Amino acid sequence: MTFEDLNLNKPLLQALTDLDFVYPTPIQKQAFPVIMSGRDVVGIAQTGTGKTFAYLLPILRQLTFSDQIEPRALIVVPTRELVVQIEGEIKKLTKYSYIRSAGVYGGGNINTQKQTLYEGVDIVVATPGRLLDIVLHGALRLHSVQKFVIDEVDEMLNLGFRTQLRNLMDVLPARRQNIMFSATLTSDVEALINDTFNTPDKIEVTPHGTPIEKIIQKSFHVPNFFTKANLLELLLKTDNEMNKVLVFVKTKRMADRLFEIIANKFPDQIGLIHSDRTQSSRLHAVQNFDNGTHRVLIATDVIARGLDITDVSHVLNFDTPDESADYIHRIGRTGRADKDGIAITFSTSQERGYKAAIEELMNRTIDVEKLPEDLVVSTVFLEEEKGPVLFDKHYLKAPSIKNSKGAFHEKKESNKKVNSGSGKRDSKNPKKKKYQRPKY
Ligand code: AMP
Repeated sequence: MTFEDLNLNKPLLQALTDLDFVYPTPIQKQAFPVIMSGRDVVGIAQTGTGKTFAYLLPILRQLTFSDQIEPRALIVVPTRELVVQIEGEIKKLTKYSYIRSAGVYGGGNINTQKQTLYEGVDIVVATPGRLLDIVLHGALRLHSVQKFVIDEVDEMLNLGFRTQLRNLMDVLPARRQNIMFSATLTSDVEALINDTFNTPDKIEVTPHGTPIEKIIQKSFHVPNFFTKANLLELLLKTDNEMNKVLVFVKTKRMADRLFEIIANKFPDQIGLIHSDRTQSSRLHAVQNFDNGTHRVLIATDVIARGLDITDVSHVLNFDTPDESADYIHRIGRTGRADKDGIAITFSTSQERGYKAAIEELMNRTIDVEKLPEDLVVSTVFLEEEKGPVLFDKHYLKAPSIKNSKGAFHEKKESNKKVNSGSGKRDSKNPKKKKYQRPKY
């Protein structure tokens, strides 16, 4: 099922295409018809499941053009960061339609926010405290709100927003659709639902994929793209357990490049999927992988989000994701009922910082495997691999001034080596004979 199969309109479909989003995630599939029906809805879903679009898409689908001042949809969330994030998602989805949205949160300039509201909006995203302030000042009237969303309601109640939510509901029209999303269904959340909702429909997605503890995680440190390709080839040749391998690659270009190399070595065993492929070739790639015709599917992160594939024996991260959350999403795709899933990650020195950030997030290390003896290590670096070693922005910590030796301290002995550049190796390097042109 793709977004084309949902009852969306052209502007939304075009916006989704621009985002490279093709498949609705499970919560998006489930929520769409229910929210469209106008009934009250409780969604149990965590961040990362695509829950924001799950409620935004049907709401935007039903909002027609209007020049009315007062908003028709209201979304309340616990933090200003979420307001900004959700407002950003609305802007992306309304690139091709005349829907006006505004974010309202404490800490932002109240006069600028009021001014935007005076000019007229269709959707307001807000934190409850600031929203009530503005309403009490008479700068916003909520009598036209037809769709009322409370997102991350469990977090909202944890933060003590219960009274503000109640006060807010008092100024909303009685005839409205209530939509609530929560990561967990606590007794507080249930109490709020029972008090305010009309026999809501409940939709729920279990946290995506296999829990991390059930996944065997390994990694290989490799110098560059071509060595990674050689290593993948070698692993596929030698490890028969690798019979349903989902290979993640960051960009479409890289995916194409890898496919060209690997598909040549393993004819009729490799599939490729990314958003530039035609609808039918994507469909075939998924079917062939799912039913076992193809042993490997090479996919980009974005396209893989909504894919429903079971029994993946191995997830192979051909690159190390710079967003740690992407790593968690990727490896959650492996795992079978009877066996632990296996996740293998390739990291170049450029990507080592990303890996450290992922390990920090998981609070566990990823074992580094020895490179196989017969691996052909390439000395050819792609243009994009020639840059400086990058460190993940989350991982980069400012050095403490107290311990700093200043900018002009002597380099450590080990850091004094000069890079010979262009991948050429020192002739005295004993490893030299292992390095040769890639076979591809
Ligand atoms: P959320 O759970 O709403 O926080 O969404 C998690 C991330 O998934 C966000 O970065 C979304 O932009 C992205 N996303 C949402 N729906 C899809 C989809 N159908 N395909 C690919 N990415 C998506």
